[in-house]
Amino acid sequence: MAGRLIVVSNRIPTDDNVSGGLMVALHDALGYSGGIWIGAHSETSENTDDIVDLGGTAYRKLAFRLTDEELQNYYLGYANSVLWPLCHRRGDLVEMNSDYQAAYRRVNARVARILSQVIQPDDIVWVHDYHFLPLGAEMRRLGVTNRVGFFLHVPFPSLGDLSVLSQPQEFAADLASYNLIGLQTRADVARCLEMYRADPRAEFMNDGSIKFLDRITSVRSFPIGIDTKGFALEAQQNEQPFGKQAPETFLIGVDRLDYSKGLPNRFKGFAAYLQRRPDGSQPCLVQIAPPTREKVRAYQDITRELEEIAGHVNGSFAELDWTPLRYIHRSVPRARLARLYRKARACLVTSLADGMNLVAKEYVAAQDPEDPGVLILSRFAGAAEDMTQAVLINPYDIEDIARAIDVALAMPLAERKARNAALLQVVEATDVSVWSQNFLRVLKACPADFDFAPFF
Ligand code: ADP
Repeated sequence: MAGRLIVVSNRIPTDDNVSGGLMVALHDALGYSGGIWIGAHSETSENTDDIVDLGGTAYRKLAFRLTDEELQNYYLGYANSVLWPLCHRRGDLVEMNSDYQAAYRRVNARVARILSQVIQPDDIVWVHDYHFLPLGAEMRRLGVTNRVGFFLHVPFPSLGDLSVLSQPQEFAADLASYNLIGLQTRADVARCLEMYRADPRAEFMNDGSIKFLDRITSVRSFPIGIDTKGFALEAQQNEQPFGKQAPETFLIGVDRLDYSKGLPNRFKGFAAYLQRRPDGSQPCLVQIAPPTREKVRAYQDITRELEEIAGHVNGSFAELDWTPLRYIHRSVPRARLARLYRKARACLVTSLADGMNLVAKEYVAAQDPEDPGVLILSRFAGAAEDMTQAVLINPYDIEDIARAIDVALAMPLAERKARNAALLQVVEATDVSVWSQNFLRVLKACPADFDFAPFF
């Protein structure tokens, strides 16, 4: 009998909230397979024994509770003020704090206990992202021998960056508790292997897997994608995405308001382009950026910084009938977003570090193949590893961003069509259904822990 799939991730989606690549992708993936999804409840509670069954049709959802202290120290603290900046090459923003570390370990141990109570012998478990690095180790401690896979949605940190952690050797040991470590890109895999090569506890097997203190772990890349056809269909709806004030020529940016997305440089690059644009042209940058993690200081800082730059750009360039930068701090329904992408002449992705960047894939999928727009893509987004037909940029170089906008807006139709067709092939090849099937196929083929259990 085929076992069930148990997925663990930080958030469980609700119909009215689709922001965040992880949530969108997992919702689609679980729709295909069915099973149980375990995630954090959106409301805190001091009663952590309270496991909320959220029901569900295609799959069942169980929500565990975080206390206020855990929300602060585990979620905003260790996950988003230590691991997030660490993985996004911002060691300068890491806030070391022993309470963060303790809460992180405690929450993971609790989720492991919940899992051990619902798991059946044939189930496989798929753990998602940096909130749960030690979950596999905690499950093993409770005697779980099922196949457990882990997927890291964010970039894998370099060996140098890892030394920011107070116990970097724990990072390698925790990950080695999984049968399969899935990463976004080949570059991420290289960094992960570099970490194990530097660790005397790790031994490399002939097939490339790693033996770490008597357990075997495989490391592979599985570039995540989107529901390509579904997204393209939404983009083809005729409804006008703007109200009365539709700009004639516009570029689009869509991001959570995060310091990893390179938004200040994007705005400055757009301003540099405006300086030298052809006479009479009045292009707009429509930037949609809903705030996230607003209680974390670094996010308050970036919000303020962007407001200042946006005010400066509009103050310098706006005319009575033209606002060059339309900066919107809200989430936009997916269907409307898809139509906006299709109307935009170019999409700007300027991440300074990004696991994949699904916006790049959504933009390509949404285009009209007869008159497509141009994707401007940061070399530091995971998506750039395969989406080489985008106009690739160095997001640290403001002039390079301005040049790329110039190239994109002037690009002849034949070149736009050729680039978009090539990019669409990449997007289709990494469709979210392909991604989840590939990961689960490889996980099922991994030797399970009980294959190595000693005989007595
Ligand atoms: P991240 O996971 O870091 O947020 P991604 O680009 O991989 O970055 O994924 C972002 C996802 O969230 C995409 O599916 C995108 O459409 C969605 N999203 C981002 N901003 C908005 C917004 N303002 N309104 C609606 N959806 C958004």
